[in-house]
Parts: sequence; structure tokens; C-alpha cells
Amino acid sequence: MTAMIEAKGVHKLFGELHVLKGIDFTVERGEVAVLLGPSGSGKSTLIRCINELEQISAGRMYVDGELMGLREKNGRLHRLSDKEIAHQRSRVGMVFQRFNLFPHMTALANVMEAPRQVLRMSKGEAERDAREQLERVGLADRADHYPSQLSGGQQQRVAIARALAMKPELMLFDEPTSALDPELVGEVLTVMQDLAASGMTMVVVTHEVGFAREVADQVVFMDDGVIVESGPPAAVIDNPQNPRTKDFFAKVL
Ligand code: ADP
Ligand code: MG
Repeated sequence: MTAMIEAKGVHKLFGELHVLKGIDFTVERGEVAVLLGPSGSGKSTLIRCINELEQISAGRMYVDGELMGLREKNGRLHRLSDKEIAHQRSRVGMVFQRFNLFPHMTALANVMEAPRQVLRMSKGEAERDAREQLERVGLADRADHYPSQLSGGQQQRVAIARALAMKPELMLFDEPTSALDPELVGEVLTVMQDLAASGMTMVVVTHEVGFAREVADQVVFMDDGVIVESGPPAAVIDNPQNPRTKDFFAKVL
């Protein structure tokens, strides 16, 4: 069995700025990887490279054994078409810090939109499925509410349901609770924990060390574009070996 995500020697440059400097990173099926590290270390860039929101500058990124964004032919690499990339990307769910729900659509309509437009699901099927996803995030009774009628935590749970409606093979989260009032963080983390328990492969950028300790199979500490240290939470968080990791956790814990 191939890994769900395999990054091999991944580099990313923005012009002259070298942001990812040789990332080797594997996430097995059903595994939860939590990325931690100081601001600007490249965490968002790395997860954006996993679903091709950013194009890598060198190296290889595989999702479910498939080379992302590129095709190897006669020993040469060719960029995939936009359509092929959109197809690859549709297998990867992503949840951002800002929920970006359509304000003029109900929760239900938000969740139904991509399955209708992208997967061409029938209205009946999309609605049935959307209601199931809303149930899964504990919002079955909010289906007809508009985003403005929902709390930030509820909006973020709708955003998770919306991503799940596309039946992704894996889910990426980029600081999903950072924009929330503190009292709303727990409900979103609980939904993510349930999702992890259901067997979903997840990569999560978060500052919630408690979540990392409890839910992560693998904690990855990044600094300045490299993976400094990775392993189980008990090792990386509670018994770090590298001075940079030690210094980081000494400050945040
Ligand atoms: P983190 O998520 O760990 O805070 P980022 O991946 O967002 O880090 O950013 C890493 C570095 O890359 C930062 O110096 C940031 O300014 C830079 N960067 C990120 N995205 C872009 C972009 N689209 N263009 C230019 N520089 C960028
Ligand atoms: Mg970031």
C-alpha cells in the first residue's frame, strides 16, 4: 500500500524567497499529522503544495500514489492541464482559517454547491448527502440558517461539512480555529477529533498543542522551511531533541 501523502525533496520558491527547502514528509492512510512551528516557517505553503494551490519548484508530491500536477513521460515532466489539476484537487478537502461560506446561501445550500456543480450530483442526492454531512458536524438543525445567523464555530463546522461533501480522500486544515473566539474553539476541535476517529487522513496546521497531543499520530515541527523534527507527540512535544524544537515548546507550553 502506498502512503496517502508523500513529499520527496520538495522545494518552493516565491521569486528569490526560498520558503520550502527540501521537505520529506509521509502521511499514511488514516493518519493525522499536525504541523507546528513559528509563523513564517512554511506550514501553510506546505499544505497548499499538497493540493496544488501552490506549484512546487522542485521535488515530487504524491497523493494516494499519484504525482500531483505533473506527468512523467519518456523521463520528462509535463505540467498537467488545469482540468486534470482540478480533478486531482477535488480529492483533497481543505478548511481555512476563514470559513468563506457563500453569505447568500443557507448552510444546506453551501454544502450542496460543490457536489452539484463539480460532481454533477442530482439535487435530491446532493441534499440527502448534505444533510448527512451537517448531521456529522452536529448542525442538522441549522440547515436552513444563513452564515450570518451562525456563530463562527458553527460556520467553521459548515465549512468542514462542505469539504466532506466532496468525499475527499484526505483533509487539510490550515489553522481552522485561529479566527475563533476562545469559547468556540472546542466545538470545532471536537468535530475534527471525531473525523480523525472515523479514519480520515488529516494534515492539520494548528497552535492547539492539546489537540496535537491527543489526536496526532505524527507531530511535525517546522522552522525556516525545513522539518526540524517529527514523530509521535510524546517525543516531539514532550521530549524534543533539537534545540529549535525545545525552544519553541518552551515558549508555547
Ligand atoms: P506559516 O504558515 O508557517 O506562517 P507561510 O507558508 O505562510 O508560513 O509563509 C512562509 C514564507 O513564505 C513567509 O516568508 C511568507 O511571507 C512567504 N510567502 C507565503 N506565500 C507567499 C506568496 N504567495 N508570495 C510570496 N511569499 C509568500
Ligand atoms: Mg500559515
